[in-house]
Amino acid sequence: MYDDILCRNKVGVLYLVVPCYNEEEVIADSAKKMKDKIQRLIAEGMIGAKSKIMFVNDGSKDNTWRIIHALCKKDIVYCGMSFSRNYGHQSAILAGMMAARNYADMIVTIDADLQQDLEALDQFIKCYNEGCEIVYGVRNDRETDGLFKKVSATLFYKFMKLLGCHVLANHADYRLLSKKALDALYEYKEVNLFLRGLIPTMGFQSDVVYFDVKERKLGKSKYTLKKMITLAVDGITSMSTRPIQIITLLGFLVSLFSVIMIIYCIWDWFSGHNVPGYTTTLVVSLLMGGLIIFSLGIVGEYVGKIYLEAKARPRYIIESLIWKESDNEEGKSIGECNEP
Ligand code: UDP
Ligand code: MG
Repeated sequence: MYDDILCRNKVGVLYLVVPCYNEEEVIADSAKKMKDKIQRLIAEGMIGAKSKIMFVNDGSKDNTWRIIHALCKKDIVYCGMSFSRNYGHQSAILAGMMAARNYADMIVTIDADLQQDLEALDQFIKCYNEGCEIVYGVRNDRETDGLFKKVSATLFYKFMKLLGCHVLANHADYRLLSKKALDALYEYKEVNLFLRGLIPTMGFQSDVVYFDVKERKLGKSKYTLKKMITLAVDGITSMSTRPIQIITLLGFLVSLFSVIMIIYCIWDWFSGHNVPGYTTTLVVSLLMGGLIIFSLGIVGEYVGKIYLEAKARPRYIIESLIWKESDNEEGKSIGECNEP
């Protein structure tokens, strides 16, 4: 503890981790704004001079990596890595955090479109200096969102809670993690990773910072409905077994009902007035068939997840990395440092 306090007395190095997927319209402008902010924080003595902005190109199909590459060549405040294909937002921020872990005292993950307010960084760093290992950015309201985003986000949080996956409402992935929290996260080897659900379970002293969300200036949301549903299913299946418990309960209730029906039918048969009921038979068998297939599907989701975990494939593959510590360096690389 004493060590921690001593450590916080020295100015910490901050890495901004920025996932990017087809962000060619916004990336140059966002990079400039982020650099201005980082330089201001360094000048104010809030963060160390070696602080950096790390872009993670999540298999973009447009010019995103070309732009990131040029930025990194020109200015040592930027560094970047590129995936071999699109692995998704969660994998992109994880890769950035894990790469920054050995160089940074703290990292903040932020979206490339800068919808999240950069000015909240001051508050994040303040909380870190007060001893927090995790600081969650929570949005103030959803006024800037369209109707679809508003409704889907509300349903997402309600559904997650109902199915036993507790996430902080209105907290996306704008958050600060200290080196200590990153080291703890490194120990989680699961392939099926849902950071919003997982990080709160790690414990540690934490705090919340509220910020305003701006509208996306250019480009469109990369979170398609399909990606949102995948995120929700991954979140639930990686954090909770409640859907399987619900199936068990449902199975028990249906069995109980069947026993009652069997007793009733036998009684009916003995009393001699059994009336043929075609519709009832059809409806019940269709309903039961549907329920059984749906339940099998849910169980299958979990079996599939176990299958993926058992194979333990890499969570992402880094194809290129560009990272310079000083201006006269060519840039070091993990694997190949491919020119785009
Ligand atoms: N993103 C990513 N991989 C994906 C989808 C999105 O790295 O497969 C990044 C994207 O470039 C952005 C962040 O995740 O930096 C959030 O995406 P977006 O702004 O499109 O989501 P929204 O704000 O609409 O929820
Ligand atoms: Mg966005």
